[in-house]
Amino acid sequence: MDNKEKKPSRSAVIKNTAYAVKVITKASPFLLIGYTLSITGYWFFESYIKNVVFLEKMINTVTQGGTFRQFMLMLIAFCGVGLVAHFLDCAGDFISASENKKVYRLLNEQIFRKACQVDVECYENPEFYDNYKRATDVINNELSAEFSWCTGKFVSSAITAVGLVSYICSVDPKILLFLLGMIPFIASQSYRNKLEYRKDKEMTSNNRKKDYVQRVVFLKDFSKDMRTSGIYSVMKARFVNAVESNCAIIKKYGWKTGLLDVFGGFVTEILPIAGTLIYGVYGFAVTETISVAQFAVLISAVTSLKEIIENSGRCISEIQRCSLYFGNLRDFFAYENRLKDGTIKAEKIESIEFRNVTFTYPGAEKPTLKNVSFKINKDETVAIVGKNGAGKSTFVKLLLRFYDPQEGEILYNGINVREYEADTLRKKIGTVFQDYKVFALSVNENVLCRECENDEDRLHVEEALKKSGVYDKISTFEKGADTVLTKEFDDNGTGLSGGEQQKVAAARMFAHPFDLAVLDEPSSALDPIAEYKMYESLIEETVGKMVIYISHRLSSAVLSDRIYVFENGTVAESGSHAELMEKNGVYAEMFTMQASNYKDEEDEDNE
Ligand code: ADP
Repeated sequence: MDNKEKKPSRSAVIKNTAYAVKVITKASPFLLIGYTLSITGYWFFESYIKNVVFLEKMINTVTQGGTFRQFMLMLIAFCGVGLVAHFLDCAGDFISASENKKVYRLLNEQIFRKACQVDVECYENPEFYDNYKRATDVINNELSAEFSWCTGKFVSSAITAVGLVSYICSVDPKILLFLLGMIPFIASQSYRNKLEYRKDKEMTSNNRKKDYVQRVVFLKDFSKDMRTSGIYSVMKARFVNAVESNCAIIKKYGWKTGLLDVFGGFVTEILPIAGTLIYGVYGFAVTETISVAQFAVLISAVTSLKEIIENSGRCISEIQRCSLYFGNLRDFFAYENRLKDGTIKAEKIESIEFRNVTFTYPGAEKPTLKNVSFKINKDETVAIVGKNGAGKSTFVKLLLRFYDPQEGEILYNGINVREYEADTLRKKIGTVFQDYKVFALSVNENVLCRECENDEDRLHVEEALKKSGVYDKISTFEKGADTVLTKEFDDNGTGLSGGEQQKVAAARMFAHPFDLAVLDEPSSALDPIAEYKMYESLIEETVGKMVIYISHRLSSAVLSDRIYVFENGTVAESGSHAELMEKNGVYAEMFTMQASNYKDEEDEDNE
């Protein structure tokens, strides 16, 4: 994603503003119009009807001999209009609160969907996180509400300004000259907001670091390491650095925005009011061209107009600022995956072939996989073994098309993986990863990956849990598979051991149809007996299907039809267990070493 610092051009601001209007209107067609109408009614009453029309009539009634009855009738009419105006103000608040929720809900959905679809490599890219954070700022900082408020306020100000200007002109148009000082104020506000945006942008990365530390400190997954190691001091140092760096950024921009505020205060507060007062007093007392009512209303009208122009300036620059964030949102949505989806819908998987595949991670210097070639046919159970860092998990990532290789081809049923719709292909593959995840949902939901709707669903989950070997444990819970995992949202929720969680993750695979099972160290948290049982279920379940099993425990590799030994990103050896043992190469060495370890453990147990 392009994250270079760019000065937003005027046309970009217009485009971003149009985009903001489009996004908001799509989620809530009524928000901008409804809100603008209601606050226009309110502000027109406040600034024009109350401060000009009513004030003038009231002073004239009092100074020109009007009756008390006339005064009361006028007051009743004024209260009636005031009631309507306040009703409109409340209606505006209600519209803003309820309709903006719809905007955030739609944007959240769209952002989550996009985040789930972007290339996996984005998660290794800090720029992606910065852009993601800025895109979510529209929601986190409630910028849709801000944008609609400013738009409504700007339109209402423009309409009210027409009434005020026409009144001032009816008294003396020259008074408008005192308001010219507001023009540089509007320009300065626009510049001020650009500075604010730049400041926010520079702080994004620090804020992410701060968020990370704040998140990690509260996450259960990290709680043990946090308490037993010295890592907290490092995290704290990162947090403090981020805060200090933010302070430096605030300082860098603070004096500029401060100066602009002083300037703004002078041209908006002193010039128009003092100028009008002097001019008004001169007209009233010296030349006698202005009546007492006109003088009072003039001061009120100029004060209102000054506030309106001031607010309009702030609204314009605030709209610009919001539009910059909406621009971030648009950039985020516009991000195009590097991995282009193909058009072929995946059929039953009959074969997989790696043909001279070489792959280097983005930004890495050396390839992780080098010229890897082999073919797996249906009915085959294949084990991938090798030391840590040999490239086994990378092979799985390529198989699932999380990345594309730079050289060579990966073929499903003889067709390049790039030509398939990735989603349809992944749906044919059942997976269990070593870094399995269970979610703070019920066991049923964790396994079905959707809400559990009826008894048929429950039965389906039960079978899957039996296959993965965790049913007995789950059935001891009072609410069975309806029990929520983790206590994060439910006091009656429960915790599971690492191995039990991994079995729930494996049940997820068993609960869905698949042609190919890919198990990347599925037994990393299991004891040998649990592993054996799971492997047994897997063999039963996968008759006529393909299985790719990655395990550092070579005892399970023995049961495979074929074993591929990965070493330094290449396939060092392949063959059945017997063939490889006879070859007496890397595999035989690893197997003998592991077998003797097990033997030693057994001997120790027997002593
Ligand atoms: P294995 O599963 O065999 O233990 P991996 O496939 O996970 O090994 O990793 C193989 C090597 O690829 C690692 O030693 C590391 O150098 C490199 N690697 C893994 N993931 C990444 C990544 N996201 N970015 C850069 N290099 C990586």
